[in-house]
Amino acid sequence: MVSRARRRFLRAASTFVGSLALAQPVAGQNSKSRLILLGIGGGPRPRKTNSASAQVIVVNDAAYVVDCGDGVARQLVLAGIRLPQLRHIFLTHQHSDHNADYGNLMLLAWTAGLKTRIDAWGPPPLQQMTAHFLAMNAYDIRTRIQDEGRVPLEPLIHVHELTDGGLVLDDDNVRVTAALVDHPPVAPAFAYRFDAPDRSIVISGDTRPSENLIKLANGADVLVHEALFPAGVDRLVAGVANAATLKQSILSHHTSAEDAGRVAKKAGVKTLVLSHFVPPDDPEITDRMWIEAASAHFDGKIVVGKDLLEL
Ligand SMILES: [Zn+2]
Repeated sequence: MVSRARRRFLRAASTFVGSLALAQPVAGQNSKSRLILLGIGGGPRPRKTNSASAQVIVVNDAAYVVDCGDGVARQLVLAGIRLPQLRHIFLTHQHSDHNADYGNLMLLAWTAGLKTRIDAWGPPPLQQMTAHFLAMNAYDIRTRIQDEGRVPLEPLIHVHELTDGGLVLDDDNVRVTAALVDHPPVAPAFAYRFDAPDRSIVISGDTRPSENLIKLANGADVLVHEALFPAGVDRLVAGVANAATLKQSILSHHTSAEDAGRVAKKAGVKTLVLSHFVPPDDPEITDRMWIEAASAHFDGKIVVGKDLLEL
C-alpha cells in the first residue's frame, strides 16, 4: 500500500520527470484499480437479462460500491469480491433502482464476516433510511450478535449526507469528487469521480445531459454514462396504464446514447461505457445500435456495458 504522503511525493516527482518511470506510483500489484459493472439495466423492475444499477471500484482490496440496486450483494459475490472488502458505499440518488438494496448490502456483508467500518455517502434522507433499516432488522441483528458472537453492526456504519458537489473523500486509495447532476424531480442527484493511482473513473448516475458532469469528467480515463434509446421508450411503456406520464418522465430526466456521446466528447474522456440502459431489455435494440448512436459525436472507445463486465 502506498501512503498518502508517498503518493504526494510521487505526484510531485512525476511533475519533474514528465511521463517517465515515476509517473506511475510504485506500489503493490493491487493498487491497479478494478472497475466492475454489477448491474447495467435501468429501472427497478426485476429482469431475467440484467441487474439493477450498481458498480464497484476496487483499489488495494478496498471495495467502493456505487449504487445499490436489487441484488447488489449477490452481484458482488458473482464478481468475486469478498463482501467483507466493502469499505464505502455511494448512492447517486434516491430512486429504488439505485438504492433498493442499500441496507441489505451492509447487513449481508456483515453476515458474511464484515467487522470493519463502512462509510455511506449520498443524498438525504440517507441518515433516516439507515436508521429505519437497522430498526426494521433489529431482531435478526440482535440475534446474530448474541447467538453467533458477531460485533454490533450499527457502530460500524458511518453515514454522510451530501447536499452539494465537491470533494467527498481522499484516502490512501482514491480521491472521490461529487457533482450535482440533473435528474428531476429527484434532487440532489450526484455523479462521482474516482481518481485512483492508475486512472480516473466517473460514474454519471442518472441525469439528463449535464454541464456539471462534463466538468467533473474532464479528461477522465473512463466515463460510465447512463444511456437511453428514445425509439425504444414507446415499446417500453406500451400496455402500462400511466404510459404517457411515464414516457414523459423517462425522456425528461435521462440522456440518449447519442447525447452521452456528446457529453463524452465535450469532457474529453478516453473511454465511454454505456450503462443504465433504458429500455433495459429490448431485444430489438442491439449492441451495434447503442454504439452507433453514441459514436455519432464521440470517436473514443465505446463499451456497451454488461453485468459483471470488468474494465
Ligand atoms: Zn433515477
